[in-house]
Amino acid sequence: MLNPDAIKKDFPIFQNIPGLVYLDSTATSLKPKSVIKKLREYYETYSANIYRGIYHLSERATEEYEKTREIIAEFIHAKSSDEIIFTRNTSESLNLLSYSLGEQIIKKGDEIATTIMEHHSNFVPWQQLLIKKGGKLSVIKLDTEGELDVENLEKYISKKTKILCLTYVSNVLGMANDIKQIIKNVKKINPSIITIVDAAQAVPHRKVDVQDLGCDFLAFSSHKMLGPTGVGVVWGRKELLDAMPPFLYGGEMISEVHVRNTKFKDAPHKFEAGTPPIAEVIALKEAVFYLKKVGLKEIENHERKLVAYAIKRLGQEFKNLHVIGPKNAENKGGILSFHFDRYHPHDVAQILSEKNICVRAGNHCAMPLHEELNLLATVRASFYLYNTVSDVDALIAGLHDVCRILK
Ligand code: PLP
Repeated sequence: MLNPDAIKKDFPIFQNIPGLVYLDSTATSLKPKSVIKKLREYYETYSANIYRGIYHLSERATEEYEKTREIIAEFIHAKSSDEIIFTRNTSESLNLLSYSLGEQIIKKGDEIATTIMEHHSNFVPWQQLLIKKGGKLSVIKLDTEGELDVENLEKYISKKTKILCLTYVSNVLGMANDIKQIIKNVKKINPSIITIVDAAQAVPHRKVDVQDLGCDFLAFSSHKMLGPTGVGVVWGRKELLDAMPPFLYGGEMISEVHVRNTKFKDAPHKFEAGTPPIAEVIALKEAVFYLKKVGLKEIENHERKLVAYAIKRLGQEFKNLHVIGPKNAENKGGILSFHFDRYHPHDVAQILSEKNICVRAGNHCAMPLHEELNLLATVRASFYLYNTVSDVDALIAGLHDVCRILK
């Protein structure tokens, strides 16, 4: 059984800020000692650029960097580490796909399907591409239960749909979409559709197996999975990556440059121009080790228990508070968004902040979803492996204070 009190001891921030109630891991996760130690190790013992040097510091840094690629490939069950590209974050991963893939295959009149619950990172790049190309964005809406309207996929997908890009776990509603089944159903309507999964809120919290999901591309961020900031990942099927042109041009992604032409390296290197975030990529593997040590299944169950407990208490104790999205914690990741009848989410977050409780207020980079729900903003509390039942209790106590202060 996962023991969050023991886990907390591995995260120095809890010793540095006693009483911290961190409920914003959806925005970014905290970092364990092992990740911070690995960052220091690079800077203190083999700080050199990768690929370029034939001295041993550079060779060691290159080895450590490439080892993370292998660890990530194994973590998401990619066929090969050549299918793993390092970017700066999920946003850049999705932009890479929009530029390198979308620009190639989208023509005037084509469609891209996405969902109303996307983070802007998986919405705006496709919307902007279609504006440029003269295509149409088809947006899968919610059904009456507040789940993705997957019963009516024919309404949204047709032979004109070249790409489907959808989120695995919504960063607002918290529920996981049944990606495997959706992809199967979508391929029945249009077998040649390319599928892209935004797994920024999935990879840190549940076992993700890209081969089992049956998607073509998947994107996520290191900083949401206990790893350093500044690193994102694109996984893609090798044959598709090989057919795509580079996204950025520059150092280390070329094999030959002549005055009139250039030959690029193979994937993944042709997508990694310039000096990458070396220390951060190297330390990302420690985050994977930590997640594996605790166990993804345990993390998933733990978050589900905390969400179920929070939903129950919120429902019992606050008549003026509404949790958005499906109330059933079975299908939820550790994300809970809600709003009060009369109190502004920013006021709520501000009062909680004075009690050392960190939650997020706003539209959480999901404005189309908030518009659909007729809400300007919500409060979001999100739970991860280091959160305890007492953190939920602190949130509830804080919300009672909010009601006393704002009434
Ligand atoms: N997609 C989802 C579902 C997210 O929750 C986020 C960040 O919150 C992103 C994409 C963007 O991630 P990043 O800020 O690391 O680019």
